[in-house]
Amino acid sequence: MKYISILGASGSIGQQTLDVMRAHPDKFRLAAASVGKNVEAARKLIAEFSPVLVAVTDRDAYEVLRCEYSGRTAVVYGEEGLVEAAICPQADVVVTAVVGSVGLVPTLKAIEAGKTIALANKETLVVAGHLVTAAAKRRGVPLLPVDSEHSAIFQCLQGEKREHVEKLILTASGGSFRDRTREELAHVTVEEALRHPNWSMGAKITIDSATMMNKGFEVIEAHWLFGLPYERIEVVLHRESVIHSLVEFRDTSILAQLGTPDMRIPIQYALAYPERLPLAAAKPLDLAALGALHFAPVDFDRYRCLRFAYEAGKRGGSLPTVLNAANEEAVAAFLAGRIPFLAIEEWIERALERHQPVDDPQLEEIREIDADVRAYVRSLLA
Ligand code: NDP
Ligand code: MG
Repeated sequence: MKYISILGASGSIGQQTLDVMRAHPDKFRLAAASVGKNVEAARKLIAEFSPVLVAVTDRDAYEVLRCEYSGRTAVVYGEEGLVEAAICPQADVVVTAVVGSVGLVPTLKAIEAGKTIALANKETLVVAGHLVTAAAKRRGVPLLPVDSEHSAIFQCLQGEKREHVEKLILTASGGSFRDRTREELAHVTVEEALRHPNWSMGAKITIDSATMMNKGFEVIEAHWLFGLPYERIEVVLHRESVIHSLVEFRDTSILAQLGTPDMRIPIQYALAYPERLPLAAAKPLDLAALGALHFAPVDFDRYRCLRFAYEAGKRGGSLPTVLNAANEEAVAAFLAGRIPFLAIEEWIERALERHQPVDDPQLEEIREIDADVRAYVRSLLA
């Protein structure tokens, strides 16, 4: 039996993690969970899974829930509450499924507490990949990828020697606007941006997919998870999202992982690792019905955020922190209908140009830079 703590249990990844757990009650039990503002989701998961602890973000939600569940499930709140869910003594595995850099501190604390990390919250590795991977190495805890591309690569690497790997190839669907010209992007709406062709995900990552910042983040995530230089991490467009990513070896062989676009597959792989469990809910691929798979090069002028991410990743230091903070603020402004789609990349570029990079930033410095960049990007709106 593995005991699981889910940070972000009310979100898209969080709910699919609960689905996987429901399918295997003999394998997984919920120890702790956090939600943001969704009190109803907290109620439901307490009724169904009776975890020892539930964290919510704000005090009001905490007051409501605390009265309802006194004694059975401890209710906590705020940043400290999120950390409590991350270090819950009963948990073996922590699924990091909150969105944004708010995931960084609880992830570091969970690592310090010796928890296995099932990592969905890629922003953590973008903002402080050097700190997170160093802490995991020091403490000897595994960072198991949940992101479908990284899960694919991780699966292709099983039984292989790292020194035999030539390059990693991440596939990209191209997001909601893959069939539009750059000129057309000037007028797209939030609603259109939220319509991803292949995946159903949270709002923020769906916008990141449309700008391809998501793929840029995944390149940085792959760099930290698999220890390869950026020159040996490539992105290829693949409309169908059937091949989730590939690894090329030194003899030119390429291994790929294929599957229907269903996040429960990589979530379950991370939870069960090194076991592979059946997944009745997922549909197997019908290759004959699929007929063909397509690949194309990415255009770095069309997807400027992908270029920014490669540049920030290669320069390293504090630049990826700036990239992420500017992106979080710009995407929130776009989702709120306050800026046009193309302003997202424009604002990120301005934040990157303004910043004087710092080498090897530590946690406090990262938090300061994050706050400074957010304030700057918000000032652009004002
Ligand atoms: P969602 O927006 O669906 O869910 C986000 C979760 O985080 C919710 O539980 C939300 O709570 C909680 N949350 C939001 N803000 C805060 C905060 N300030 N403090 C504490 N909790 C907060 O996101 P996704 O599930 O789509 O994505 C989660 C992470 O997984 C992201 O990093 C994303 O990049 C990554 N990922 C997602 C994939 C997907 O298919 N969705 C695929 C690969 C990676 P509430 O709703 O209760 O307010
Ligand atoms: Mg992905």
